Amino acid sequence: MRIDLHTHSRVSDGTESPAELVRAAVAAGLDVVALTDHDTADGWEEAAAAARDAGIELVPGIEVSTRHDGSWGTAGVHLLAYLVDPTYQPLADELRHVLEGRQARVPTMVSRLNELGVSITLADVAAASADASATGRPHVADALVTLGVVADRTEAFDRYLGWSRPAYVDRYAAPLVDTIRHVAAAGGVSVIAHPWGRSRRQRPDEADLAELREAGLTGIEVDHQGHAPEARDRLRAIARNLDLVVTGSSDYHGAGKTDHDLGCNTTDPEQYARLLDRAADAARSSSRPTPEVVRP
Ligand code: AMP
Ligand code: ZN
Ligand code: FE
Ligand code: FE
Repeated sequence: MRIDLHTHSRVSDGTESPAELVRAAVAAGLDVVALTDHDTADGWEEAAAAARDAGIELVPGIEVSTRHDGSWGTAGVHLLAYLVDPTYQPLADELRHVLEGRQARVPTMVSRLNELGVSITLADVAAASADASATGRPHVADALVTLGVVADRTEAFDRYLGWSRPAYVDRYAAPLVDTIRHVAAAGGVSVIAHPWGRSRRQRPDEADLAELREAGLTGIEVDHQGHAPEARDRLRAIARNLDLVVTGSSDYHGAGKTDHDLGCNTTDPEQYARLLDRAADAARSSSRPTPEVVRP
């Protein structure tokens, strides 16, 4: 069983439609794939239909943009929410707030780029993000590629869009602990994505993760391209101590991110079974209309 629990489609900043992504997952030899676009469930329906046709197990998910003021400072945290009812009002309100924040910063990024002498318009970004519910910096990067300003997304982040680069603009992110609680109340399970990823300025340690576990966190993503082997070993030990589920994934973005091929990291079937058990418990105690895993 090859299980990949974190991927992106064009509904956020991936480069394939949800159906294309699902077919690519089959071609990559995966048995289970989760669609986890940033801050939206809008790709779920298309992905589910494609999964039924293509004969692969699909787990609906969302990678929620959150922020945490913890003992380790203020930091952005990506929270993977699986099998959650996205219409649960407190969660839906936060997602709407984040999506509005994503949209609201685009004109500021475009103005910054214009001040830097780059001729880019709002229409260029709109064209690059036409299929996306969640507009992100990668779409601005894609517009810069189309305009011939940079060669690829990486160069766009390195020169303009990355944190501390001149066209970087902050945006709203949902409070982490509240979001963990909302996900549980909405009948789903939450997993911290790439907790010690390369680009992270602050890292939660075992005590921080223990607190989040108390709030209802189910797991941590350990096997991720952003984690060196030693980081994976330490995170695995922490997960064992705290009884957190361990996941692994590609964080696939199609052509938008190199070295993140589908299935480059996978989740152990036993850990996947634990995740589904916890989700079933959450769904029962929430009595929300939660989505099902799509089975071939
Ligand atoms: P945003 O959510 O709009 O702030 O953009 C952050 C997203 O950009 C991340 O989730 C990554 O998927 C993507 N990203 C960050 N750095 C890079 C990079 N150097 N090259 C390509 N994509 C990146
Ligand atoms: Zn992304
Ligand atoms: Fe992420
Ligand atoms: Fe991601």
